[in-house]
Amino acid sequence: MLEIKWCEDKGWQKPKITPIHDLVFHPSAQVLHYAFQLFEGMKAYRGFDNKIRLFRPDLNMQRMLSSAKRLNLPLFESNELLECIKKLIEVEADWVPDSTEFASLYIRPTLIGVEETLAVSSSKKCLLYVILSPVGAYFSTGVKPVKLYADPKYVRAWPGGSGSHKLGSNYGPTVAVQSIAEAKGCQQVLWLYGEDHQLTEVGTMNIFVYMINEAGEKELVTPPLSDGIILPGVTRISLLELARQWNEFKVSERRITMKEVIKALNEKRLLEIFGSGTACVVCPVGCIHYFNQDFLIPTMDHKEPLIFRFLKSLTDIQYGRISHPWTIQVC
Ligand SMILES: *Cc1c(COP(=O)(O)O)cnc(C)c1O
Repeated sequence: MLEIKWCEDKGWQKPKITPIHDLVFHPSAQVLHYAFQLFEGMKAYRGFDNKIRLFRPDLNMQRMLSSAKRLNLPLFESNELLECIKKLIEVEADWVPDSTEFASLYIRPTLIGVEETLAVSSSKKCLLYVILSPVGAYFSTGVKPVKLYADPKYVRAWPGGSGSHKLGSNYGPTVAVQSIAEAKGCQQVLWLYGEDHQLTEVGTMNIFVYMINEAGEKELVTPPLSDGIILPGVTRISLLELARQWNEFKVSERRITMKEVIKALNEKRLLEIFGSGTACVVCPVGCIHYFNQDFLIPTMDHKEPLIFRFLKSLTDIQYGRISHPWTIQVC
């Protein structure tokens, strides 16, 4: 693991790569009481040429900085942290799995406030650390569409809150809702927001709806970042940028409601719904359970779904099948 300590009077200490070990801090450490914790999720990919690459890690570093700002935790030089992470991956290069099955090395940067005090105040003592784990292909048994549980009485994030940051405190409270979803035979929660039941995210993924809109045009829709209730996913922005480059259909960051989705479904204009995130790249939605009704989503039912094009385009870049400015080579 990589470890970097920070304290108010001395600033950042020398980064260290050490064998993984338990952390020791006082029972009053702020992280244990007030959730002074933020994290990132990114991957290292072993390409077909055996080179190891990161995918847009600068965006993870920027997001980590914005999370640190939200918790008033110390800021850092994001390029310097990235250099340390690259060094860690180089040391552990043998743990980056073979590309053949779309496996990768998951990277978990974490920043916690560990000052020993029961005061709710800025942490004068922090620890930044990074741990790693090899992970298998997300769809090891093939790409299977998921069923979503949508109940507007549960809310993940709200304007003015912290849902647009990767703070640990946003995730613990979702697990109980996830288990309700599972009890209803669903795999993920579709997080709705507002009186008009806007679609916001799927589990811990961003959401995309591909449809023919009321004007008869093909349109890819994902909710906007401007309301502060959406996590700015690296995969999300990458899919948007790819689609805008292709310039074959309308690409919109705008609110979209259950009413609009159901109307499009009933009028056979709904093409695909999918989640996006580092874990899976894209994850097709096959059904939404909403007010005791199952709405079947035809994501996989037509020829050449858009999700497969996205999946291939991004994995071709991540695994170095095509060289692209979005990847940086570690070793
Ligand atoms: C991490 C995360 C995502 C996806 O972000 P990526 O950078 O694409 O992995 C989406 N939504 C939530 C709530 C997340 O925590």
